[in-house]
Amino acid sequence: MKITIFGSASGIPEKGKSQTCIGVEVGEKMILLDVGEGSASSIAGDGIDVDKIEKIFISHTHADHFIGLPRLLQYFKWKKRRKPLEVYLPSKHIEAVEKFLPFLYIFKERFEFEYKFLPLSDKEFFVFENLKMKMFPTKHLQKYRKYAELYGVETTSYGYLIEEIANNGVEAKKFLFSSDLHSVDEVKNYLDGLNLLVIECAHIEIEDIIDVVSDFDISEIVLTHVSPDKNIMPMVEYARAKFDMNINLAYDGMKIEV
Ligand SMILES: [Zn+2]
Repeated sequence: MKITIFGSASGIPEKGKSQTCIGVEVGEKMILLDVGEGSASSIAGDGIDVDKIEKIFISHTHADHFIGLPRLLQYFKWKKRRKPLEVYLPSKHIEAVEKFLPFLYIFKERFEFEYKFLPLSDKEFFVFENLKMKMFPTKHLQKYRKYAELYGVETTSYGYLIEEIANNGVEAKKFLFSSDLHSVDEVKNYLDGLNLLVIECAHIEIEDIIDVVSDFDISEIVLTHVSPDKNIMPMVEYARAKFDMNINLAYDGMKIEV
């Protein structure tokens, strides 16, 4: 499984950085986890064949995880994509997104490929025959509870636990992407035996991350979504020295073979 960080920025805009978007590639197929602002530019810059991208998952619809979607659809159209595309969203938001896109002059009838919106599920399922995924709920959106009744918005966000199934001599591999969290404890139950952990640093403190992950044997840890006003390097150096942790900072275009 090959992971590409297409967008590593936090929610705060930064020159030359795209917002959250991660590609997971197995064989000739790729899925995207979140599509924040700049995802289309970053994917175009990478030069990947857009037909590879079969499914897009959106953990929650904060703009820095979602607003790249219309530009991606337009980019796929420009690249003359013909392969159908599945986009998984919080179910409560599907109707609104379908109504919104035509106001950006994105009309399904003008596309040579079919794109459809499907509801997210918190049940474990097979993305492809050799790739299993569990989207686990997090409390990142709980502060909006009072608006849920007023506007009908979703208040559950999700993290991603992905497993490449062992076959043909390939060992099983496990990758977790936290997306946005309320507390680092929300990933604790899934850390055991991970080959790669990509964890956000915008809504949780680096000290708490190190404290929790140091109890587990994780082959590689990548910190992403780091606010520009945070200096996390002293703690990163500390974790490397004290726990011999393989811990690095994400950057746009970073590729990790898992
Ligand atoms: Zn968020």
